[in-house]
Amino acid sequence: MRIVLLGAPGSGKGTQAKFLVEKHNIPHISTGDLLRGAIAAQTALGLAAKEVMDKGNLVSDDIVLGMLKERVTQEDAKNGFILDGFPRNLAQAEMLEALLKELDMALDHALLIEVNPDEVVERIAKRAEIEGRSDDTEEVVRNRLNVYKEQTAPVAEYYKNQNIVTEIMGTGTIEDVQERIEAALRF
Ligand code: AMP
Repeated sequence: MRIVLLGAPGSGKGTQAKFLVEKHNIPHISTGDLLRGAIAAQTALGLAAKEVMDKGNLVSDDIVLGMLKERVTQEDAKNGFILDGFPRNLAQAEMLEALLKELDMALDHALLIEVNPDEVVERIAKRAEIEGRSDDTEEVVRNRLNVYKEQTAPVAEYYKNQNIVTEIMGTGTIEDVQERIEAALRF
């Protein structure tokens, strides 16, 4: 099963992805995590990406696609994966479609986790205390939400046109959201 998780920063994509990994035995591929890994490893690419990420802007499509391609073609992703944080704009959605076609694969589901913006800000403030991410400050979060609205929200429309989107209410407990996702995947 090949799933794309869509939703604003703080909507719970990462949390839900972890449950999906356990339940469906497919890897969680987060471009944000891959980029943070490159930063931690202090690669040239990581250092260049850090500046952009710390402002809450998008890293260049070429860099992210290169990382994604490398990850998606690994053995453990052969039978499926959960994409989290990719695609982030329409160009990436088109690149992903071309890449999957090349690999003779297709997406099964795009799950759009919906939460209201006030809740997102609150959730990210909590995450900032726990994880200490350098892009979870209030000013950067505001920019990330704008970037989401302007560049990432159209990706949901792209998948709606392909009839693979299910909107998931992201409110309630983690388990509530998990159940809604499982129900959506049964279709
Ligand atoms: P995330 O962990 O998904 O919230 O991503 C954290 C940051 O990494 C984003 O604010 C971007 O700067 C960068 N990033 C992650 N995924 C992508 C992507 N697909 N395209 C461009 N930048 C990305």
